[in-house]
Amino acid sequence: MSEEKDNVPDSKEPFMFFDTSHLRTDEIFLRLERTSEADPEKRKAPSYHFNICRVSDGLEIGMIDFRVGNTQETFFDGNIGYFLFPSQRGNHYSGKACLLLFNLARMHNMNYLYITCSPDNYASRRTCEWAGGKLEAIIELPTDADMYWRGERQKCLYFFNLVPDKVTAGEKPFTYRQVGISSFFLKGDICWTPSPHTLETVENGFLLCSDGKSGGVFREIPETHAHLPVISHSRMLIIPGLTDLHVHAPQFAMRALGMDMELLEWLNKNAFPEEAKYAEIEYAKKAYGHFVRHVKRGPNTRLCVFSTLHVPGTLLLMDLLEESGLVSLVGKVNMDRNCPDYLREGDGAAATMEWLETFYKCRGEGRYKNTSPIITPRFIPSCTDELLKKLAEIQKKHALPLQSHLSENPEEIKWVKELWPNSKNYANAYEMAGLLEGPTVMAHCVWSDESEMDILAEKGVYVVHCPQSNMNLSSGIAPVRRFLERGIPVGLGSDVAGGAHTSIFRAISDAIQVSKLRRDGKALTLEEAFYMGSAGGGAFFAKAVGGTEAGAAGSFEPGWDFDAVVIDDSEFASPVRRNLRERLERVVYLSDDRHVKAKYVRGISIL
Ligand SMILES: [Zn+2]
Repeated sequence: MSEEKDNVPDSKEPFMFFDTSHLRTDEIFLRLERTSEADPEKRKAPSYHFNICRVSDGLEIGMIDFRVGNTQETFFDGNIGYFLFPSQRGNHYSGKACLLLFNLARMHNMNYLYITCSPDNYASRRTCEWAGGKLEAIIELPTDADMYWRGERQKCLYFFNLVPDKVTAGEKPFTYRQVGISSFFLKGDICWTPSPHTLETVENGFLLCSDGKSGGVFREIPETHAHLPVISHSRMLIIPGLTDLHVHAPQFAMRALGMDMELLEWLNKNAFPEEAKYAEIEYAKKAYGHFVRHVKRGPNTRLCVFSTLHVPGTLLLMDLLEESGLVSLVGKVNMDRNCPDYLREGDGAAATMEWLETFYKCRGEGRYKNTSPIITPRFIPSCTDELLKKLAEIQKKHALPLQSHLSENPEEIKWVKELWPNSKNYANAYEMAGLLEGPTVMAHCVWSDESEMDILAEKGVYVVHCPQSNMNLSSGIAPVRRFLERGIPVGLGSDVAGGAHTSIFRAISDAIQVSKLRRDGKALTLEEAFYMGSAGGGAFFAKAVGGTEAGAAGSFEPGWDFDAVVIDDSEFASPVRRNLRERLERVVYLSDDRHVKAKYVRGISIL
């Protein structure tokens, strides 16, 4: 998350009011009545108070105030408050006065501001919309707010982006933290899976965010927390953020191409030539920008990502992900054999150290809060024994997690056996190289047998089930039911571009569908698949700390990171009233990014 400093007046500098005589149009002008200084004790911002006057005859037609910066006062009252005499309404005078104040706000280096109004004040709501505001939320006021005692209960919060080039969708700031409110409730229809067998649902309930962590779900606001604001998403579904535990960011630009090939052919013809392009930083900037913006709009809040072997491109991807507010583990890929010459590393270990040293230096400067490195040998065939062993040393030295591919395809497994003839199986080859000692995620595991599962269970390896990719590349269907029976942790992955869709909703529905085709046990239930896509994969982040400040996500049980996604499923209404489980199932199968209305990561609104 980028630190938004511009919007708050620098407390070290004395605040300066500007000359306002230029605030006029052909129709109206703003006449300054008075200014008032900040009052830090009452959390009041410095403010201007104007009369709105008509140019033609100088007549006073209303009033407008402008509060500079963000304080608790401006959060509930907004940065701008206005009143127009009733006889003057209908000419957009209030909206035009707001536009004039936006210029003044820019002079104060504000990149955005808020205007609030009561939900039943339709005139004011129309003004906000006319002036370009976006309704961000309807907040229920806490009982200790001044306005609560004046009889107000709710406020519409309109967001105005004053510098669209600077405050892009990816960098939208969030004021709760800035005004010292890091705890609040979300109100709506809440669903989550505390275990693979249980779906908890609370209709019209309250989900508590307490300093970026979940404080649990309540049917009524507890007396002890009545002072907290409530952001209302009434009649919408609120679910935990989903985790894409295996995705190749550089393949996003070529997703849904070559879907009629099998793995090794597809790698050589499609994936490798595309990944080579990321040596060019300009190409990487464009393509990774598309990827990050796309993921941000969808229901995933966390990802475990492969980049390419290029160090500058990998750091760029980490920067973009950090700015987006998503939480991620990002791996610079290693490969130094059995790959095209144009993608072969000379000294993969040295390049990995160069990447990590730059990362740690930047993190020391405060750049990365949500983004961490993960050691990423592409897979056994593409790394020499020497490189694998050096990576194991680096991993151990820096206490890093590791991600790779395992038992995706029978040909690949045979190949690994030839390369590591003394290994008992594919997982054992990683084990012999010393690479299963830390937190580990292994994608696919389609052909893992019981002896391989022994290793996965013993080492606590997270399996990433990527059903869409496994279909597209004819890999097969992973024995997920057996993993669950053996207590092996399982998350879901898009494996873009083996899979074409980034949304983990798609992976959830695919996982259920392919499990039916195995015909060797009970198919996966909605609860099990949803669990894997949320808490199952999100739990890896508690394990794979690697220096990130983030913890586990994907559940609303108290203490988990507050990652929540708000889905408007009103489009799927039916004549029959649906319960929350049914609504969730339909969202899994039918929704797309357009239905994602709000998204919170570690308690911060990022959409
Ligand atoms: Zn993959």
